[in-house]
Amino acid sequence: MKRNLLCMTAPLRDGFDIPCHELGPAAHHPSAALVGGLHGDEINGVFILSRLADFLEGVEAGNYPELRLLKRVLIIPAVNVLGVNLRTRTWPFDKSDLNRMFPGSTLGETTQRIAFAVLEATKKAELRIDLHTASSDFEELPQVRLYGPSDEERQSARLFGLSAIMERSMSPVFTTTLMSSWKVWPGQSFLLRVGQAGTLQLEHCQRVFRSLVSFLGRSGVLAGVKIAEEDEESCLFTSESAIRVYAEKAGTFVSDRQVGRWVRAGQELGYIYDSFSGKIIEKVVAPTAGLLTGIRRHPLLFEGDLIVRINRRL
Ligand SMILES: [Zn+2]
Repeated sequence: MKRNLLCMTAPLRDGFDIPCHELGPAAHHPSAALVGGLHGDEINGVFILSRLADFLEGVEAGNYPELRLLKRVLIIPAVNVLGVNLRTRTWPFDKSDLNRMFPGSTLGETTQRIAFAVLEATKKAELRIDLHTASSDFEELPQVRLYGPSDEERQSARLFGLSAIMERSMSPVFTTTLMSSWKVWPGQSFLLRVGQAGTLQLEHCQRVFRSLVSFLGRSGVLAGVKIAEEDEESCLFTSESAIRVYAEKAGTFVSDRQVGRWVRAGQELGYIYDSFSGKIIEKVVAPTAGLLTGIRRHPLLFEGDLIVRINRRL
């Protein structure tokens, strides 16, 4: 069922709404809450969640007789509805970052009211998932991110079946994010980072769609899900395991490498060319063996730009 999480008016145009899907048996609060598009240019998450809502509606309609929704699920595919329409990361009217507005307020500016409505609708869910991407310059391997996790969260993170789980401490700088507001409440919170902003990577989206269905199956929200055999081993990485390569010179960076591959020390990952002469300035090689978890996709490099990130197995 579609309903509006929040309806807002605008000075000289029709009002606009933030719609959400509510699926499964009625309950006082959802058991699982999934949020996408806090950043309007992060299309992968919006696409994945809209497809998931369509799939779960199909489950409710009886299109998949072996599957049954046992618990209430709330899906907000795009919080920053105007940003998605205008292809901007931030809220278009005042350029504010919606993921720096939590916990929000009922009386504040529009973005404060949006944050408040999103938190109210999701905070009591036992399982909370927020989808993001990297910037439009960089591609991230689809991964689960945990922030100052509990043991339960560490265990549940494996239920997604994604190959990388990144553990971070809860930064005192980011106290205004949805994640930090969620962490105050009982229940488990996960952030999925999927690919690159500004574009849609179908393979990543399909992978994460399947991992969300597996997760809902394994956590008892959706009954009848066959456990996928294809799941890769999940590796837990802390921030100390990340090795980053930065550009020593400006130029054009080109690489045909794919994220999610294990690389060996010294393996060639791409080339930096002189943007005028076309000559190779630098061969970029892996400084260590590990999983290629992020790579730069915007070709134009300035000195000091991040080119690749590799995570070493602990
Ligand atoms: Zn984001």
